[in-house]
Amino acid sequence: MTTDVLEAYEEGRGPRGRGSEPERVDTVVVGGQAGLSVGHHLQRLGVPFVVLDAETRTGDVWRRRWDSLRLFTPAAYSALDGMPFPAPPHHFPSKDEFADYLEAYAAQFALPVRHGWRVDRLSAAGDGFLVESRGRRIEARNVVVAMANYQRPRVPGFAADLAPDVVQLHSRDYRRPDQLPADGVVLVVGAGNSGAEIALELAASRQVVLAGRHPGELPFDIDSRLAHALLIRLVLRGLFHRVLTVDTPVGRRMRSKATTRGGPLIRTKARHLRAAGVKRVGRVTGARDGRPVLEDGTVLDVAAVVWCTGFRPGFEWIDLPLQTTELGEPLQSRGAAVGVPGLYFVGLHYLYAHSSSMIHGVGRDARRVAEQVAARQAAPLATAAPTSRPVAARPA
Ligand SMILES: Cc1cc2nc3c(=O)[nH]c(=O)nc-3n(C[C@H](O)[C@H](O)[C@H](O)COP(=O)(O)OP(=O)(O)OC[C@H]3O[C@@H](n4cnc5c(N)ncnc54)[C@H](O)[C@@H]3O)c2cc1C
Repeated sequence: MTTDVLEAYEEGRGPRGRGSEPERVDTVVVGGQAGLSVGHHLQRLGVPFVVLDAETRTGDVWRRRWDSLRLFTPAAYSALDGMPFPAPPHHFPSKDEFADYLEAYAAQFALPVRHGWRVDRLSAAGDGFLVESRGRRIEARNVVVAMANYQRPRVPGFAADLAPDVVQLHSRDYRRPDQLPADGVVLVVGAGNSGAEIALELAASRQVVLAGRHPGELPFDIDSRLAHALLIRLVLRGLFHRVLTVDTPVGRRMRSKATTRGGPLIRTKARHLRAAGVKRVGRVTGARDGRPVLEDGTVLDVAAVVWCTGFRPGFEWIDLPLQTTELGEPLQSRGAAVGVPGLYFVGLHYLYAHSSSMIHGVGRDARRVAEQVAARQAAPLATAAPTSRPVAARPA
């Protein structure tokens, strides 16, 4: 096939999926990192599938994150099922090293990933689904939406009321300090892991104010010997993966908290921020005369704001009768969407456990979903309904 024809196929101008007849694929997986994990398990089980990823290169979500970002999970817990991360177990990979690992993973298993396929609509078609991307169409019996439910930046509405001379960035677009003015105060809004790490980096060269509630922190340094020997395993594999799940009372209690308030600080501690001269203030609640205002009414004269205020799901392209929790998460049981047989989710925050959206935790959910898809191949459609209790926003 010539390059022209290949490009035409990839852009949907060629015969594949465009025109009168949609292409037919048994199972479509939509997503990147979580999608690779699902793909690996579907492949093992012999289910025909494709992975559709909006990125032009596997791992680009990681490559676009800020330059100094190192994972908070060491190599031993920064690998998908079936391929270890190629570094000593206590090495904390850089974001680019991890992006390259994902690319190598897709190559190692020859996973059928189609890049540049942003799905713009997923709808019902007969007993299955129609997946559409810029005019390209695929009919599938099963669809796995394999991605975190934080695809679109969330910024408060009053951001629009800040004066034009206040430089604004969301953490998704933050790369390095020189994107921000060298003079004047930088306000970092949101004191979770991203906010704390970005505030600490900026504090080396700028005056920084960090706004928001302290979410708590791990009571040890993740670079310490004790952490390497024991604590990281206890927290990541024990607590986050086995104890804090929707099957345990403590896990269900923590799920509500983690979903609404985020998790504890992992690498950066309050004392690191203090030592770096970061000033802590309460929540930002609005704007007055083009400047941000705190909950106690204080107006802050700042040159820049970095919004570390999180993300929203960004699942508007899913045109299906999804049931959702009161927090807007898709209602699902072990990844199977409630009320939409054949539709699955993997990678959602706390889908099953605190580790569900983490690298070392996604594989268990991916395997369970792949097994449900494979079981559907063999069984009549009626057996595809979820078998265990769905995840509710505030489980009893
Ligand atoms: C700053 C930061 C640091 C983190 N550090 C760690 C860490 O150290 N260790 C750890 O275990 N976890 C970490 N995580 C959590 C998690 O591993 C990452 O968020 C990871 O990127 C999640 O991967 P994902 O594939 O589930 O979703 P995403 O990374 O959000 O990827 C979504 C993929 O789906 C594609 N996509 C989205 N919409 C569509 C569509 N409509 N059609 C087609 N494709 C689409 C995107 O192109 C992308 O490739 C971190 C998260 C953040 C934000």
